[in-house]
Amino acid sequence: MTEVFSIPLTTRFRGIGVREGVLLRGDAGWGEFSPFLEYDDPTAAPWWAAALEAADEGWPDPVRDHVPVNVTVPACDPARAHAIVLASHGCRTAKVKVAERGQTLAEDEARLEAVRDALGGDGLIRVDANGGWSVDDAVAAIGVLDRAARGLEYVEQPTVSVEDLALVRRRVRVPIAADESIRRAEDPYRVRDLEAADIAVLKVQPLGGVRACLRIAEDIGLPVVVSSAIETSIGIAAGVALAAALPSLEHACGLATVQLLAGDVVDRSLLPVDGALPVSRPEVTMQALGSWRAAPDRAEFWAERLRRVRSLPTPG
Ligand SMILES: [Mg+2]
Repeated sequence: MTEVFSIPLTTRFRGIGVREGVLLRGDAGWGEFSPFLEYDDPTAAPWWAAALEAADEGWPDPVRDHVPVNVTVPACDPARAHAIVLASHGCRTAKVKVAERGQTLAEDEARLEAVRDALGGDGLIRVDANGGWSVDDAVAAIGVLDRAARGLEYVEQPTVSVEDLALVRRRVRVPIAADESIRRAEDPYRVRDLEAADIAVLKVQPLGGVRACLRIAEDIGLPVVVSSAIETSIGIAAGVALAAALPSLEHACGLATVQLLAGDVVDRSLLPVDGALPVSRPEVTMQALGSWRAAPDRAEFWAERLRRVRSLPTPG
């Protein structure tokens, strides 16, 4: 059984305003196939492998029953940043966007001071530059922001290229995390080989499923932060399953993103309680799916996309 969903985002993200995909029910449960629209078929193939694993095979046994998650603070003003942290359902880690085009380092500093104030001294603050700095800018900014935050847990993707990540990493004390540098299954190995990061951000769908990610995590030997690809609770559940099955989990995960969508396809969304998500296997309900079912032309687009991707050799 398959369904096609189309759900607007509450805030535009990656330049997109709507999230679409296929939901698939197999013997093991529901899987989500939601590669971004601009991705070609080979890039979408691991996403399909992840959906099939979820639907047909299920996931390895968890070693923990909940997964701590971070609250995400966009590149907003300090008052809003403060309010977002206070409204985060107990998250003890905040991920703060910095290096936004058109903003100054002073704005980033002010945002971090507000987040530290809202979080208290014992919370963790990480920043995400989404590749917005040059190597020299990153080195200068990281020192300033580390002081403003009174200690940073890590800096995510300070520069665009993985080579530059490695250069920044050699010049700062704050740990570096690779996010955009890890998009395809071979990327994490490059991050490891170049010693470009201290932490790897892994996403289940782009990397081909929970088991594929567990293999990567074991191979590269870096601490992992599991993050979402802005999915419904069905896709998020796969991320939670990965985080729950990792032998060690040292950092909060970036899986509290269901609220970025205007709706969901399950009755009880995977939203944080006391700063963590429960390990669970949510079910799509027709009532929840209701108004988010894609229009016929979009359903036809996805059926066609799926036909093409399924005709490719299975990755991994
Ligand atoms: Mg990131």
